[in-house]
Amino acid sequence: MNEALLDDDGSDDLVEFTPCCPKCRSAHVEPRNLARRFGGAMGAIVGTTGGVAAAVAGAEAGVLGGPIGVLLGAAAGVVIEGIVGGAAGCAAGSRLGDAIDRNILHNCRCRACGHTFGGTSS
Ligand SMILES: [Zn+2]
Repeated sequence: MNEALLDDDGSDDLVEFTPCCPKCRSAHVEPRNLARRFGGAMGAIVGTTGGVAAAVAGAEAGVLGGPIGVLLGAAAGVVIEGIVGGAAGCAAGSRLGDAIDRNILHNCRCRACGHTFGGTSS
């Protein structure tokens, strides 16, 4: 009675994860995720740089508190802001890169014949 509701549109979901090579029909296909990796790295750099810049600004404000204030403010600021900024930037960059991978680049590579192709069928 309800069997039609259970599993009738699973076809779309699998294409993205296990595509077959269009050239040799091999299932040994791996995602390249080039933009994703690049985006993550770039995001981490930008985020860390932004965090460090904020920390430097904090250190400059710390001048009012004397040399010890500068040192403490800069050290704590670089560590905390750098880590937080880097992690946030990496996550944002990875997400952006993932979208680029899926929509623009040939994101899949066949391990059998080396052919690269887009993972999504449209
Ligand atoms: Zn192939």
